[in-house]
This record gives sequence, C-alpha cells and structure tokens, in this order.
Amino acid sequence: MNRIAVFPGSFDPITIGHESIIRRSLDLFDKVIVAIGVNSQKNNLFSVEQRKSWIEKIFENESKIEVDAYQGMTIDYCVKKNARYILRGLRTSADFEFERGIAQMNHAMIKEIETIFIVSNPEYSAINSTIVRDIIRNGGQAQQFVPKEIKIK
Ligand code: ADP
Repeated sequence: MNRIAVFPGSFDPITIGHESIIRRSLDLFDKVIVAIGVNSQKNNLFSVEQRKSWIEKIFENESKIEVDAYQGMTIDYCVKKNARYILRGLRTSADFEFERGIAQMNHAMIKEIETIFIVSNPEYSAINSTIVRDIIRNGGQAQQFVPKEIKIK
C-alpha cells in the first residue's frame, strides 16, 4: 500500500523543528508531501516561491519528499493527492489542545484520513516560526533556528 502523508504548514520560514519532524517521519511513509498552505489573510514574511525553493533545497536528496503549495482545506488537498495521513508536530500541551480539535473535526469530515503526531525533540520544542519571523523582522540572529541551506542576511 502506498502510504502518503501531507505535512501542512506555513513554513514561513521552515525551521530546524519542522525539518526534524519531516526526517523522523520518513520511515513511516512512502511519500511525504510538505505542503505550504497559502492563506492571503496571513501576514507572511517570505513569498511562497521562496519558502518552496528553500524546502526543495533542504530535501533535494530525499526521493520520498515532494514540496507543494495549496489553498483551501487541508483534507480536500489530501483527497486530491490521495494522501490518507496528515502529519503534525507537537511541541507543547497547547499544540496538543489546538491540534486535537482540528484532527477530530477533520476525521469527522473524512473518516479515511488519520492525523499522525510526532512529538518534537526537546531541543526543538521552543522553536516557532512566528518568533523566528519576529527576530528576522527586527534584524536579530535567527540563523541557528533554520536549516543551514537557508541563509538569512
Ligand atoms: P502553522 O502555520 O499551522 O502554525 P507551522 O508552519 O508553524 O504551522 O508548523 C507546521 C507543523 O509543524 C505544525 O504541526 C507544528 O506543530 C509543527 N512544528 C512547528 N514548529 C515545530 C517544532 N519546533 N518542533 C516540532 N514541530 C513543529
């Protein structure tokens, strides 16, 4: 059976926390689609093209990974891509409470789709794209929080 997972997120920018979850998921699935959710209401820092090209560069040697962008509901995108799994990372109990509701509602809408959670390694549990963006906007040093393929000026 072809086990396809979608890892949805903003990835604005991708962090070493995201990268770790993606790498740890590779043994579980035949294909992992890193899917950038495009939401025009969100106050993005980097363009979708920039975010996508960084992720492609980071995983250029991983044949199981595909990078894409989508609009609308994640479950609709999963159906379109034939993916039965949604992958999410859990850092804190707050993440869990938030994710639980989304996962339960998604499952109520489409029974065939399961959300799979990977608990972050402790060293990554404080890393958060929103804070990374704030550091970058304010001219601080964010390099240690992002994969080495991303060069932040
Ligand atoms: P969103 O835009 O929905 O907040 P993100 O792009 O920040 O999503 O993150 C996508 C997924 O990656 C989410 O499941 C989130 O919990 C997870 N994630 C983000 N940062 C980390 C981290 N440092 N360690 C583990 N998982 C993370």
